[in-house]
Amino acid sequence: MKAILAALLFLTTTQLLAAQTAPPKTTVPLKTSPPKSHSAAKPSPATVHAQAIVIDTHADTPQRFVDENYDLAMPLNGGQLDFDAAKQGNLGAEFFSIWVEPDLWKGQYAKRTLELIDSVYQQAAKHPDKMKMAFSADDIVAAHREHKLAALMGIEGGHSIENSLGLLRDYYKLGVRYMTLTWSNSLDWADSSGVVDPKNPNDPNVPHTKEGLTEFGKDVVYEMNRLGMMVDISHVADKTFFRTLVITRAPVIASHSAARALCDAPRNMTDDMLRAVAINGGVVQVNFYSGFISQAYRDASKAQKPEVDKAIADLKEKYKSEGKQLTYGELETLQRSYADKIPRPPLSALIDQIDHIAKVAGVDHTGLGSDFDGVSGQLPEGIDSAADLPKITAALMARGYSAADCDKILGGNLLRVFREVEKVSKQLQAEDRPRIVEKQPFEKK
Ligand SMILES: [Zn+2]
Repeated sequence: MKAILAALLFLTTTQLLAAQTAPPKTTVPLKTSPPKSHSAAKPSPATVHAQAIVIDTHADTPQRFVDENYDLAMPLNGGQLDFDAAKQGNLGAEFFSIWVEPDLWKGQYAKRTLELIDSVYQQAAKHPDKMKMAFSADDIVAAHREHKLAALMGIEGGHSIENSLGLLRDYYKLGVRYMTLTWSNSLDWADSSGVVDPKNPNDPNVPHTKEGLTEFGKDVVYEMNRLGMMVDISHVADKTFFRTLVITRAPVIASHSAARALCDAPRNMTDDMLRAVAINGGVVQVNFYSGFISQAYRDASKAQKPEVDKAIADLKEKYKSEGKQLTYGELETLQRSYADKIPRPPLSALIDQIDHIAKVAGVDHTGLGSDFDGVSGQLPEGIDSAADLPKITAALMARGYSAADCDKILGGNLLRVFREVEKVSKQLQAEDRPRIVEKQPFEKK
């Protein structure tokens, strides 16, 4: 089916090109096979990748900037993103994740959020020849023309706004262009897949909202639509996902999510959810994490969990007794030492995920959200850093994906959704709807 569609598309392009260059009187006959010279000109995966604006919507590198004083000009040193890797992988834009660990930073969510945001600006300021802050779809295209990495930011976890629409607006002003409504922790206005089990969503022993979002939660979504901040549904509980899709005025993104049909993690999306994003016009950016793409890896990881949890608790206790702050990097080193014992899934596991999402949601609703620097290096074979991104294009083309399909998956779809979000924002700002009155969630329940 896909190959037939690709062939049709190819033929249409051939005719269009012929129509543009042919003398006016010549009619263009319908050909059953493209001319020889044209089939020889079919672009190679390397060319397709090199010509695309490649956009990754999730990297946790800011943790490294702040905690390890990491600089993108330094060698990877266990990470997956630096300038060399970005260049080799033709990465055009990265959405740096502004993620605040909710236990470590209790009471200081805004402070930590602001420090992480600043760290991205610091990188851009240090390396103006290599990286440029970007705040719009047009900015991404402009940075690409200048051969610079476009740096964008997405907040991962609505706890960063501390129940304040004012803070949400401040973050927008600082350049944040998406927010994941929740991380693995539930909020009093939205539920997380890390807390609410999709198989038992109304478990009375697990705190959750009645409808997936409270009235305040709906205000957050509306305000994001109005500002032009993409609503990211990665991590949220199924009910919160569907409630968000009912009320959002703009297309949503899943900045880093895989498919549950292939790997049964509550954090992954069901086929119904994938189809709902397609209807909404949004895009699902596929997560590369081994534990989300491969059932075999997930099962092995599950078996190991009690041991890992105990080691983390022990380390936290040790730091607490010494009066020191445990960093994300130290936590990751520990997790990594355990995860490294599990065999890596093959690259095909990731390609299967992209292929599944492209088949269920559609090739217009699929993209890449690596989760680089956020998964303790637990990535499929062959994907060690951003330098390996061209392997994805090669694998997709080997499965029959056309150059145009790959261009969409690599970044075209995200650009389309980003532009649509910007358009909806302009429309909402022009509407005469009264400004949302700030109310605390407890007043609205
Ligand atoms: Zn995440």
